[in-house]
Amino acid sequence: MSFDINRLIRPNIAKLLPYSSARDEFSGEAKVFLDANENSLGSPLMKWYNRYPDPHQKAVKDKIAAIKRIPAPHIFLGNGSDECIDVIFRCFCEPGLDEVIICPPTYGMYEVSANINHVGVKKVPLLPDFQLDLVHLENAITDHTKIIWICSPNNPTGNSLNRVDIETVLNNFNGLVVIDEAYINFAKQKSFVQELSEYGNLIVLQTFSKAWGLAGLRLGMAFASLSIIEVLDKVKPPYNISQASQELALKALEEIGQVNDMIKIIVDMREALAAVFLSMPTVEKVYPSDANFILVKLADARKVYDFLLTKGIVLRDRSNVALCENCLRITIGTEQENTLLVEAMHDWYQLNP
Ligand SMILES: *Cc1c(COP(=O)(O)O)cnc(C)c1O
Repeated sequence: MSFDINRLIRPNIAKLLPYSSARDEFSGEAKVFLDANENSLGSPLMKWYNRYPDPHQKAVKDKIAAIKRIPAPHIFLGNGSDECIDVIFRCFCEPGLDEVIICPPTYGMYEVSANINHVGVKKVPLLPDFQLDLVHLENAITDHTKIIWICSPNNPTGNSLNRVDIETVLNNFNGLVVIDEAYINFAKQKSFVQELSEYGNLIVLQTFSKAWGLAGLRLGMAFASLSIIEVLDKVKPPYNISQASQELALKALEEIGQVNDMIKIIVDMREALAAVFLSMPTVEKVYPSDANFILVKLADARKVYDFLLTKGIVLRDRSNVALCENCLRITIGTEQENTLLVEAMHDWYQLNP
């Protein structure tokens, strides 16, 4: 299928002349920088924080490129994936006119970001086994459908979506397909980042917030064709990734071994915690997870949730979400936190035999 990205870009964005920062206009070697109205005397922190950061985050992207085995120009960095999501809406969806498709139960930000940008949302719920409903998906597409949002492994269900189904969407939808892989490092499935040359309509999202353990840093990644990345770059705020974030990300990227060790431990604890919950009396189901959380269906989810709160333990209550009725989402904690949770559950069953 020939795919023309220009057909999808909002006309005002296609015409947009992007802001040209001081660091864009001069990026060579010089001794005296009097071009950006920074404080030349310094800062209360380290000397270099008085300067604006690299708007193109070249060093960080080069390091990510090496790890992901994908050329740096195919990478966009956002202030968290949440900024990537917002920038994608602003580049491609005309407010009050265009629409997108989401497949609930899924991550809440796609709908919130659509609403903020006044973009229509069509919902095609996942099937009861939490897989894509391809028939209804096809029927929901109109001339104004710009994006289909797919989350795999999915939040809050934890499962990966069938790869063949995702490929069917990529092959047959003439708009953008965003695959949010926030949890991909915990999954057995492989990422779609290696498929960018295959699909001109593909955007893959990943994040430093989960496996990398850096939710506080706010750093998200989008991987896509050069022409898509070019549009995203035009729309983002010029200095969207702070100097501190860039430095810390570079440091973290040196420690991939440590991150891989944590992933192994979390996956092992996930399987162990799933087994423990499965053996509990009112637990009806522990859904298979490819993420760093499990979704558990209980006879009395809301009551258990409230009880655990009195013990100082907070879970994510999804019991009112369609298809997740009576479900709690449990993040895998430390060994000690998981033990506290299991002990509190035993207390609950003592009080409610
Ligand atoms: C946690 C999560 C993210 C991460 O968002 P950041 O803004 O990068 O912290 C993205 N997508 C999904 C589905 C998530 O669950």
